[in-house]
Amino acid sequence: MATASRPDSIDTTAEAETLGACPSCGTRIPTYCHLISYRQRGWPTMFAECDDCGAVVHPR
Ligand SMILES: [Zn+2]
Repeated sequence: MATASRPDSIDTTAEAETLGACPSCGTRIPTYCHLISYRQRGWPTMFAECDDCGAVVHPR
């Protein structure tokens, strides 16, 4: 997903890369909060630590 390089003309502050929203507080979880991802029954599953409430969640 993150293999495409972006031209410098795009404002990178406008839309940060996120994994999804925290199911607990709804905060967008940035990619640097990603902990681990794996496949469970063929479905990709990931864990990330919420930057706001500190919970380890499944971003969605
Ligand atoms: Zn949260």
